[in-house]
This record gives sequence, C-alpha cells and structure tokens, in this order.
Amino acid sequence: MATIAENIQQVRQRIAGACAEAQRDVQSVTLLAVSKTFPADSVREAVHAGLHRYGENYVQEAVDKMQALADLRAQLEWHLIGPLQSNKTRVVAEHFDWVHSVDRLKIAERLSAQRPAHLPPLQLCLQVNISGEDSKSGLAPAEVPDVARQVAGLPHVKLRGLMAIPEPAGDLDARRRPHRALRELMESLNQEGLVLDTLSMGMSADLEAAILEGATVVRIGTALFGRR
Ligand SMILES: *Cc1c(COP(=O)(O)O)cnc(C)c1O
Repeated sequence: MATIAENIQQVRQRIAGACAEAQRDVQSVTLLAVSKTFPADSVREAVHAGLHRYGENYVQEAVDKMQALADLRAQLEWHLIGPLQSNKTRVVAEHFDWVHSVDRLKIAERLSAQRPAHLPPLQLCLQVNISGEDSKSGLAPAEVPDVARQVAGLPHVKLRGLMAIPEPAGDLDARRRPHRALRELMESLNQEGLVLDTLSMGMSADLEAAILEGATVVRIGTALFGRR
C-alpha cells in the first residue's frame, strides 16, 4: 500500500498536470486534505509530509482531532466542509479557520456573532447546489447573489467564495460543466462589486475538471488517505 507521502506526491502531480493544461500557475491551486474518518495519527503523518490544511465534515470529530494535534495548531488550518446546523455554530466559530458549507444567511450571522474577538475573521464560502439535485444541500444558484451580499456585510466573517459538490459525471466535458457554472456564478458576483477569490471545487475523482474550470481549492480525501 502506498504511504501518505507517496499519495501526496501523486496528487500534486495530478494538480500540476491539470495546471499545465489549463496554463495556470500551480501555486494558484490549494490542496485541502480531507481527513474525515481518518485518525489524528494519519493527519500527523500528512503534516510531516508537508500538508497543512485539513477539511473535516463532522464538527465533533474535527474538534477531537484538533485537540489530539494541539501541539501542531500554529501550523494547521482547519476547514469545515460538511453540513452545519445552527446548534453547532458556536463550537465552529471558536475552533475553525474556514467554513465552506454555509448554505443559509442565518448560519453566517451566527458564525459572525460567535467568532471570538481574539481570532481573525472566519473565512467563508457559500455552498451552492450547482447541479440542482434535490438531495444535496446548498443554495440554489438564484439565491446566491442576495445571500452573498448580506454575508459580505457581516463583521467577523469574510466571504471568500463559493463551494460545490457536483454529482459524479462520466466524461471530462460533463464533469467540467457544473464547475464552469460555479465559476461563472462567482464571476457574476464579482462584476456586481463583491471581491471573491475562492472556488472550492474538485475532489479525488474530478480534480482535473475542476482545475480546468478555475478551482482554487481542491478537496481531496480518498486519493490521499485511501478508502473510507
Ligand atoms: C468527503 C468529501 C471530500 C473528499 O472526497 P474524496 O472523493 O474522498 O476526495 C470533498 N468534499 C466534501 C464536501 C466531502 O464531504
């Protein structure tokens, strides 16, 4: 079985290949390691192999890992990428650096109100249901401009961009379509005067399609840590 360090190298090669094809600077894509369901020791191994940004889906699991890795806190960035209920916003505001999965104004308002004063603003993305699936969480694209404007005005959070989890698609063209739609949505928000710089899209199976359409953060679990 490949080690985490070997997997990181492979993923970095895929990112570099996609950046070359897209004629993008490889530095313009951030690798977010999705460590959900893997133990703190796996994260520690990945940190030693050079990864410093981690995405988690479940708040309590993440906080437990943060505590186990408290000695590394200064060099780590923790991103919440899973669904967030109102009753968990305080612990998230107190512990995380980023939240990618904001899908309601109310959640952003609570995060802003509960962000401790000694911490920098919590960095946020709005999750968009870009493929229009009933089962997926996220704002409908038509709802995004209004919510984005209001979130951008909150004091202790910073709206950075958009996130999506498109449904799996067969060929590269089909995979690119939802990523393109998310990029175009962000571009239209920026034309209206918002200043967004983050497109959180692309996972183990579709990171190339996402990078070709402008992803700035790819969220990679399986290809780094193995099957869950
Ligand atoms: C689990 C998860 C990922 C990582 O998916 P892989 O296919 O394992 O790379 C990325 N984003 C979100 C929101 C996830 O829940």
